[in-house]
Amino acid sequence: QAKATGAGSVFYTQSLADDLHRRQRVSDRFKLALESDMFHLVFQPQVRLEGGSFEGCEVLIRWRDEELGAVPPSEFIPIAEELGLITKLGEWVLSQTCRHMSDWAARGLSVPGRVAINISAQELMSSGYVANLEDTVASFGCDPSAFELEITEHGLMQDILAGKEILNELEDLGFRIAIDDFGTGYSSLSYVKHFSADQLKIDLSFVRDMMVDPASNAIVAATIAMAEKLGMQSVAEGVETKEQADALKAMNCPIAQGYYYSRPLDAQDFEDTWLIPANG
Ligand code: C2E
Ligand code: CA
Ligand code: CA
Ligand code: CA
Repeated sequence: QAKATGAGSVFYTQSLADDLHRRQRVSDRFKLALESDMFHLVFQPQVRLEGGSFEGCEVLIRWRDEELGAVPPSEFIPIAEELGLITKLGEWVLSQTCRHMSDWAARGLSVPGRVAINISAQELMSSGYVANLEDTVASFGCDPSAFELEITEHGLMQDILAGKEILNELEDLGFRIAIDDFGTGYSSLSYVKHFSADQLKIDLSFVRDMMVDPASNAIVAATIAMAEKLGMQSVAEGVETKEQADALKAMNCPIAQGYYYSRPLDAQDFEDTWLIPANG
């Protein structure tokens, strides 16, 4: 027990204990949730800024726990990584995504462009990852070219050669690669120097601030210009207002995603609102 030297450190010790307690609770419940399939997926459309056409979607995981209520992925993904369970969770996300896609396809519905799933670097670097991914996608009768894998730079930069090899294998199989949260890491620029990708997702923190903060505005504009020069498609994340959409369009950003267009929707709402019958 830390010795309290004043009111401040008593408070600190208490809140640290609360944090640890919460973390332990989330870990315990998470293990149960993974055993009993307590997650579900939501889908958020991506649209072309010029003309507004529907160009694809991102899949995001949701967990509503009986005791803890809704736990956000920003809280439980790091815990899954720490517990060594992120690979298992990733497999669940992939197979569940494939299940929805094959179900839609069977009913003549399809997502135009790509369905993007988030891959933790730890998952990507785990042994047998590429073979498992290929097998799962094939077992649902899906095609790799229907998928985009969103990867943050965290982790991949630690072993550039191994990372490159995996990304190359994935691209050879037909998967698309997106660099997620661009601009937030320590090494964003060296990342794009070393790794090629199809899409570059501008982190929502820059989009959020771009109308009020000149630095964020400059970063967004420069990122869009750089992506274009490098042959990557930029996607602006977290677009919430018409003003942001107009400014991004004026900067020649091709694609946007955010609450201004749609919240992430559960499978049924997404289907009803966005999916188009293949034969009219
Ligand atoms: P991300 O990949 O950067 O996902 C974008 C986040 O922004 C999502 O939060 C989404 O709900 C939110 N968002 C979308 N539009 C807007 C907007 O207009 N304004 C604001 N403020 N937010 C918006 P979410 O779903 O809570 O996910 C948080 C993070 O958790 C994700 O960030 C991703 O890193 C991770 N994550 C989510 N699902 C998965 C998954 O299936 N696997 C893995 N490995 N990570 C996931
Ligand atoms: Ca993402
Ligand atoms: Ca992101
Ligand atoms: Ca993020």
